[in-house]
Amino acid sequence: AYVVAEPCIKCKYTDCVEVCPVNCFYEGANFLVIHPDECIDCGACEPVCPTKAIFPESELPKEWKEYQKINADYAPKW
Ligand code: SF4
Repeated sequence: AYVVAEPCIKCKYTDCVEVCPVNCFYEGANFLVIHPDECIDCGACEPVCPTKAIFPESELPKEWKEYQKINADYAPKW
């Protein structure tokens, strides 16, 4: 799955939400998160993020590794 990291905090853009074909973005505290079970790894969101906050799990920078859990924690449990 793709993961939203720290640069998203307080970002007001929602380009990612608009391009996601499966609507798997959700509100975090003051940022957005991606639902790890709903993301289909299409990659559409990554290039449209104005703050470069979105990474494939495998390319998540070391300093933001904890965002993998943060995305999962804020994702709704259906
Ligand atoms: Fe949505 Fe595709 Fe981004 Fe996953 S990679 S969050 S499915 S736009």
